[in-house]
Amino acid sequence: MNYTITRDYIDVGDSRSGEKLGKVEFLVSHSTGNPGSTAYGNRNYFENADPEASAHTFIDDKYILEIIPLNEKAWHVRYNVPTDNRLFGKDANNNAIGIELCYGGRINFREAYKRYVWYHAYLVDKFNLNISSDIVPHSKLDPSRRTDPGNILRQHGISFNEFLNDVRESYRRDFQGKNTSEPVDTPEPVVKGVSVSLPLDIGDEGDFVREVQEDLIKAGFPLRRYGADGIYGPETQQAVMKFQEKYDLLVDGLVGNQTLTKLNEVLEDGNSETDFPLPDGILRRGDEGNKVRQLQRALQHINFDPKGIDGIYGPKTEDAVRRFQSMYAALKNDGIYGPNTKKFIAKELAD
Ligand SMILES: [Zn+2]
Repeated sequence: MNYTITRDYIDVGDSRSGEKLGKVEFLVSHSTGNPGSTAYGNRNYFENADPEASAHTFIDDKYILEIIPLNEKAWHVRYNVPTDNRLFGKDANNNAIGIELCYGGRINFREAYKRYVWYHAYLVDKFNLNISSDIVPHSKLDPSRRTDPGNILRQHGISFNEFLNDVRESYRRDFQGKNTSEPVDTPEPVVKGVSVSLPLDIGDEGDFVREVQEDLIKAGFPLRRYGADGIYGPETQQAVMKFQEKYDLLVDGLVGNQTLTKLNEVLEDGNSETDFPLPDGILRRGDEGNKVRQLQRALQHINFDPKGIDGIYGPKTEDAVRRFQSMYAALKNDGIYGPNTKKFIAKELAD
């Protein structure tokens, strides 16, 4: 089993000091404090908010994402906790790699966990570490403030020791005797040529591209000719541009952080009604524009014909809304579109 490691480093700043890490003597296992936030979600946060905290690698069900090079320091354990020095004679920030498990929301825990296990085994192999003694849960270094990652693993019935056993198994199966250890100061992709950097553009290939294609299809942007083939060609670019247009992003056909984040959001929200998105807020007679048009399309689809999709909330649209509302005792029969009416129309669209 081999996963792709994506190396997409944040800029040097408060989160990424650029200072050289000492010899790697241990690994600190974390889980994020931020359920539902993906690897790229975390990367965005560290890149943009640039807090004086960070970790090297964020792992979700799609990415093993190194945001800080493994030969530089990250700030993943408070400096004034003494436990790391007592256990290792070294400070975690100076001599350890920090690895974060992303979980919750739309993240498939099993897939994220497999990658988390594999990546620990990869580092054990890379830095010649001892699994029993050199992998430490964050909670052990900072017990008064932290419970990660045990709190999250336990929710899925996995103790930290069982996690270590899984790392042992992955190490035996995926690494031992297969890789000679690489020099620490020249990080390279595990699967060479597959790891790509953002933004994705025409000509990019690999698993990462395939994942984005699969997401586009799920979000309602079909790739009818080539499907999710892992190649970023013109068809994919067209779909990306349609996606960007629909969600008010810069329409450049490149998949960068904003497009990825939006894609995640859209999939999180569920896309059962992507063909007929319903506007938020309140619409009433006299309103005009795209939101009215969206509403009219939806009404027409469920056979409450507003007599034309013109983007104008006139008497016929009002009447269609009123007719719809009259079907439900829970709705006020006022011809005004609001959150309650939206809920019932959405239900009708989903059936
Ligand atoms: Zn932590």
